[in-house]
Amino acid sequence: MIRLLLYAIIIWGVYQVVKGYLKSKEKKQARNPWQIEDELVQDPMCGVYIPKSKAIKTKIKGKYYYFCSKDCKKEYIKKLKGR
Ligand SMILES: [Zn+2]
Repeated sequence: MIRLLLYAIIIWGVYQVVKGYLKSKEKKQARNPWQIEDELVQDPMCGVYIPKSKAIKTKIKGKYYYFCSKDCKKEYIKKLKGR
């Protein structure tokens, strides 16, 4: 009888470990830093997608724009002024 209880405890322990392991794996996938912290933004000039942290942020007429390079930023400002 005691042995049966011991088995039950061992099985329960293994179950908890497996459950915990699966949970931590799920959390790791959900916490993908590339998707959450590094949101992709589109360069309005060349249409390329760049991570927000690497983009050149510029405020033009109260609106924020993200560019992949200084050249794109210059070109876009030129384009806006040209109109
Ligand atoms: Zn660009």
